[in-house]
Amino acid sequence: MSRYPGLEGRTIVVTGAGGGQGAAEAALLAESGAHVVATDVRDAAPDLPSGVEYRRLDVSDESGWAALASELAAELGDEPLRGLVNNAGITHRARLGAVAREDWDRVLTVNLTGPLLGMQALAPLMGVGSSIVNIGSSAALNAHYPVAYTTSKWGLRGLSHAAATELGPRGIRVNLVHPGFIETPMTANAPEAMREAQLALTPLDRVGRSDEVAEVVAFLLSDAASYLSGAEIPVDGGFTSSAGAKLMSDRIAGR
Ligand code: NAD
Repeated sequence: MSRYPGLEGRTIVVTGAGGGQGAAEAALLAESGAHVVATDVRDAAPDLPSGVEYRRLDVSDESGWAALASELAAELGDEPLRGLVNNAGITHRARLGAVAREDWDRVLTVNLTGPLLGMQALAPLMGVGSSIVNIGSSAALNAHYPVAYTTSKWGLRGLSHAAATELGPRGIRVNLVHPGFIETPMTANAPEAMREAQLALTPLDRVGRSDEVAEVVAFLLSDAASYLSGAEIPVDGGFTSSAGAKLMSDRIAGR
C-alpha cells in the first residue's frame, strides 16, 4: 500500500515534468497509484516511467491550459481532478542592474503567470479533497541575487495564499514548497561560487535531491495532509531557517 493515502486512481497534473524535480514528482505519484498527467514545454519526456501520461504544455499558453482542461473534463466525467503541481520554472541569473526587460517578463510569465493560468483553468475541475502544490524556492524567502527569479517566487507566495483563501471553501487545499539548492539540470550550470556558498550556509552540509522534494509534494497531495492549506514548507536542509547564522556559528567554532 502507498504511504500517501488517497492518491490511488486519482488524476494529478504536474507541470515541467519533463526532467528535474517535476519528473521525480511524476514518478513518485505514479508509484503511489495516481494517474499522472505529466506536462512540459518539451516535445517528449523519454525518461518518465511507463504508465505516466505525457502531454506537451507551455504553462504560459492560456489556450494550452484550456485544451488540457476540456480534455480532462471529458475524461474525468463526474470525478474531480485530484491535484495540480505547478512545478515548471525557469531561472535567469541576472542582477538588479543588468536584467533586461524581456528576460524579466519571460521569468515572471513562466514562474508566476503560469501557476495563475493553471489554477484558473483547472480549479473548476476540482472538488473537496483536491490539492494544489505550487513550487516556490528558498529564493522566495530571502534576497537571492537573480532578481527576476527571486521576484517571481515571492509573487508566487502571494498568489498561493490568495488561492488558498479563495479555494478553501470548496475544499481545495493550496500549499507551497520551497526547495533549496537541488541537484537538477537547472542548477547544473550554476556558478561554482554559488554552490560553495550554498553549502557554507546549509546546516545539513549538502545539496538536495529531487526525490526529497517529491516526497513532500506527494504528502501535500495526499489525504495525510487533509487539514493543511496555505502552508509554506522549505525543503532546503535548514538553509532558510538558519538565515546565514550557520556561517557565523561555523566561524566562531573554527570550522
Ligand atoms: P529543471 O530546469 O530541471 O526543470 C524545469 C522543467 O520545466 C523543465 O523540464 C523545463 O522544460 C520545464 N519548463 C520550462 N519552461 C516551461 C514552460 N513554459 N512550460 C512548461 N514547462 C516548462 O528545474 P528544476 O530544478 O527541476 O525546477 C523545478 C521547479 O523547482 C522550478 O519551479 C524551480 O524554480 C524550482 N526550484 C528549483 C531549485 C533547484 O535548486 N533546482 C531550487 C528552488 C526552486
